[in-house]
Amino acid sequence: MWEVRTDRGPGSPGSGLRNLRESGATGQLAPELGNALRREPQLLHRMARSLLDLHFPPSLHSELCEAVGLDLESEETGRLSAIRRKRDRRMRELVLTAYEYRCAFCGYDGRIGAVPVGLEAAHVRWWAFGGPDDVDNGLCLCALHHKLFDKGVLGVDEHHRILVSQRFVGHSPAAREHVTALAGRPLVGPQPGARPVAVGHRAWHTRQVFRGDPRPAVPA
Ligand SMILES: [Zn+2]
Repeated sequence: MWEVRTDRGPGSPGSGLRNLRESGATGQLAPELGNALRREPQLLHRMARSLLDLHFPPSLHSELCEAVGLDLESEETGRLSAIRRKRDRRMRELVLTAYEYRCAFCGYDGRIGAVPVGLEAAHVRWWAFGGPDDVDNGLCLCALHHKLFDKGVLGVDEHHRILVSQRFVGHSPAAREHVTALAGRPLVGPQPGARPVAVGHRAWHTRQVFRGDPRPAVPA
């Protein structure tokens, strides 16, 4: 998609800033791609969709689209999104049942009638990075905690206690109650007999998603 040239000719010298500067690197959209996009504007949406699916969890898709002014949702019909929806439903059922329809971080368990509302199944290792649709790669989280988990504000340590990033700042009573006070608390669930988050997936999240250092545990 993207072509890099340097003073030495075509080809990227790597991602190091110094190399890029010293070799006079410049980049541009591949010309054939520019032509193809002019011929077939729908291509843009297909490319954006595969980039999102390959590199980001679904909970971040809508804000990434918003940030660049893309409206993908109204374009989506095809086969791929049907497969994705089916996959998501299966994972959701497994994970929400394992955690007995409660947020693993705060215990939130709201429902309208018999239908849970505001609860989601989060992938610990993102699907885009080889994370399976398994119970031991999932957490049942409320919408707020799902977003904060995918953004690296919250994590899980090796004793299945909640990590809160030192980079998170919030002084309102709500920010304290819903985020900073969680540091060091044990996860809620899963129910006995259901597999907790696997070591490998947890470690991946801590390495790749969680931001900076965790705050010290808040005394109970
Ligand atoms: Zn929650």
